[in-house]
Amino acid sequence: MPESVRPETILIHGARSANPTSAVSMPIFQTSTYCLPSARHGADYQKSVEPVEYYTRWGNPTTSALEILFAQLEGAEAALALGSGMAAVSTAVLAGLSQGDHIVAGSPLYSGTAELFQGILPRFGIAATFVDPLEGAAFEKALRPNTRLLYVETPSNPTLKLTDLAAVAQVAKRRGLLTIADNTFATPLGQRPLAHGIDAVVHSATKYVGGHSDVTAGLIAGPKPYLDKCWQHAKLFGPALDPLASWLLLRGLKTLAVRFERQCETALKLARLLVAHPTVAIVHYPGLESHPQHALARQQMERFGAMLSFELNGGYAAAQRFVESLRVALLAVSLGGTETLVEHPASMSHGLLAAEELQRTGITAGLVRVSLGLEAAEDLVTDFEQALRAA
Ligand code: PLP
Repeated sequence: MPESVRPETILIHGARSANPTSAVSMPIFQTSTYCLPSARHGADYQKSVEPVEYYTRWGNPTTSALEILFAQLEGAEAALALGSGMAAVSTAVLAGLSQGDHIVAGSPLYSGTAELFQGILPRFGIAATFVDPLEGAAFEKALRPNTRLLYVETPSNPTLKLTDLAAVAQVAKRRGLLTIADNTFATPLGQRPLAHGIDAVVHSATKYVGGHSDVTAGLIAGPKPYLDKCWQHAKLFGPALDPLASWLLLRGLKTLAVRFERQCETALKLARLLVAHPTVAIVHYPGLESHPQHALARQQMERFGAMLSFELNGGYAAAQRFVESLRVALLAVSLGGTETLVEHPASMSHGLLAAEELQRTGITAGLVRVSLGLEAAEDLVTDFEQALRAA
């Protein structure tokens, strides 16, 4: 493959150089261990970073092919595939921090990340301060002498708030801090945080990368020395990705461009329907001209994504009636698959957050989150219209 090709071509051919066979489809190396050519190889592999054929918790050819493709897609030196998005988040964060360190994180975040930062990391002497990315200089103001990491999720789950990636990267560069962006909602086709100066990205590959709601996985991409550290941590924490799951991700990635483009188009159509509807108080979708950060979206995103959320005037009861009245879209957590999924963040994905935190982060009782799938947009419009009448 020529060196400089577009992301759509990377999706199709980016793993080919890592395929040791002539099979067009990367084989699934469904093995936990490997025959070693000599005792010397065994001794060397035991000490090396990420040997591809030693033991599958260390590395695996199918997983390695996925990592090579994904690093190209994010414009990174290296990538690491793991058993879930939370494995990617926790590994990426712990590889960059030590006891006594401090994180400044944009808010809201995926609830699991927020729980990790608030409920688990403090037990190991790592504190986090949450800031509103909409407030100018919020990250800078929250810095402490022991701050080591600026962590962002943009667009954020579930309110689709954006963080100015270049501005955060600038603050971090001045102080020599690590920056990590959760790029799950945007996908590498919608936004490439490393091109804006961010050090590393994490993904729940369970979502758009897999794309079919049939695999749980995570990815980290960034500079090689940092990814080596992530690998050392993951090797010992143990969230290795199964080779079959790696293959499912490779297969899913082949169609990411066509899936995502259609899903983004449908998201805009639904956002326009919702914004004009009398039962809807507000629609959060960065592709709408009325979104308060639409200019930033144009600046740092190539596509606006296929996630949106909206608030019903009727609050909690109306949101629950809405999600139960849909006949095409499904009521389910997760996102990024071929089926349109809706959920009620205040009771489901973010239901463990304290009431004041829900309020502070704008996760209101009437908020509904939508992940647009690949159904005909007209059928989704009809479905949403009838469910809005029922709400
Ligand atoms: N990051 C974001 C933005 C998410 O939405 C999720 C899950 O919904 C995660 C991380 C965690 O991913 P996983 O469920 O694959 O562990």
